[in-house]
Amino acid sequence: MDKIYLDNAATTPLSEEVIDAMVGVMKVNFGNPSSTHTFGQEAKVLIENVRREAADYLHVSPAEIIFTSCGTESNNMIIKSCVNHLGVERIITSPIEHKCVAETVLDMKKRRGVEVVYLRPNKKGDIDLAKLEEVLKTSDKKTLVSLMHANNEIGNLLDLKKVAAICKENNALFHSDTVQSMAHLEMDFSEIPLDFASCSAHKFHGPKGSGFAFVRKSSGLKGIITGGPQERSLRAGTENVCGIVGLGKALELSLKNMEEYTSHIEEVKQYAIDRLSAEIGGVKFNGRSAELDKSLYTVLSVLLPFKDPMIGLKLDMKGIAISQGSACSSGATHPSMVMMTVLDEEEMEHTTPLRVSFSHLTTKAEIDRLVEALKEIAVTFSIEKTDVENR
Ligand code: PLP
Repeated sequence: MDKIYLDNAATTPLSEEVIDAMVGVMKVNFGNPSSTHTFGQEAKVLIENVRREAADYLHVSPAEIIFTSCGTESNNMIIKSCVNHLGVERIITSPIEHKCVAETVLDMKKRRGVEVVYLRPNKKGDIDLAKLEEVLKTSDKKTLVSLMHANNEIGNLLDLKKVAAICKENNALFHSDTVQSMAHLEMDFSEIPLDFASCSAHKFHGPKGSGFAFVRKSSGLKGIITGGPQERSLRAGTENVCGIVGLGKALELSLKNMEEYTSHIEEVKQYAIDRLSAEIGGVKFNGRSAELDKSLYTVLSVLLPFKDPMIGLKLDMKGIAISQGSACSSGATHPSMVMMTVLDEEEMEHTTPLRVSFSHLTTKAEIDRLVEALKEIAVTFSIEKTDVENR
């Protein structure tokens, strides 16, 4: 039986064109981009072409794109450098950020005494922007606001333009973890006055170990990895030329096909919502994930009406790869902060969250197989329940 991959928010398969582009670089362009001879300069040109491509996508200057190893590194660099070099004394964030933001903020609190204010989202996972404004006005401390664009578990989208405007009005820096939305949505940072954002190539069919940070030039951010002058001294170390070229090719394909991919994935997502609602009695969807205009089209967070901590394993045995939440915490036995936010105690006791995440390669036939598999698993629960009731 063919295996089905429905965990695209964790990572995506590499496109053939991306592999070809990377193999080409590995075979030919081995030069160190810092070298002044032609081997080095050819490698440098490859990097600069991708930098320009990423900058054009975001409507920013190429100098504002800093290549890194991943989303985690980009977010670490931004948050830590804001504290270390820009004098940030207070961070306003939410409890539903990705671990690489949440743990970095906590680290800054523990080691640098930074004050941390959490904006508690409502049961739909929405951040209260009036509350953000209110909190911003309570202190004169230099503040960084760090709020993600698209939540990796429930797909909720933040209005970047509104938040950036609020931050500007109140003299605060604004960082958004855009790892899930980059290359999936149009982004125009000439219209959105945010200061920092992050990108990771493996979320859009590029390679793992390649990403970038968007750093607004006027922010004055400095790097945390010191050494050579690479990446405007913001990120020392010989560049991952092959990974950067892979990111560039993946970005190019995503942008070229964005309309087609978006409409296909939206159709598949709506199909999944309809089929699951029709076939699994009592199923619900978490956060805003079933509202196509308020969530990222690649993510659907399902709440199954029975408790099954083994669901991931059972689906895997049926050839379906899926996760219950973020890949970083999928081995965890306790519910994620996101689920603790959007579910009440009763729901946590009797239900099972499941994150279905799509790509342009996902088909309706695959959704049919998921629905059939879930129906088979659900049936065992009603039988077990009847057994118990008859005892
Ligand atoms: N931020 C979000 C929202 C993510 O979903 C992820 C990855 O799952 C990351 C950051 C981390 O990105 P990377 O895997 O490139 O370190």
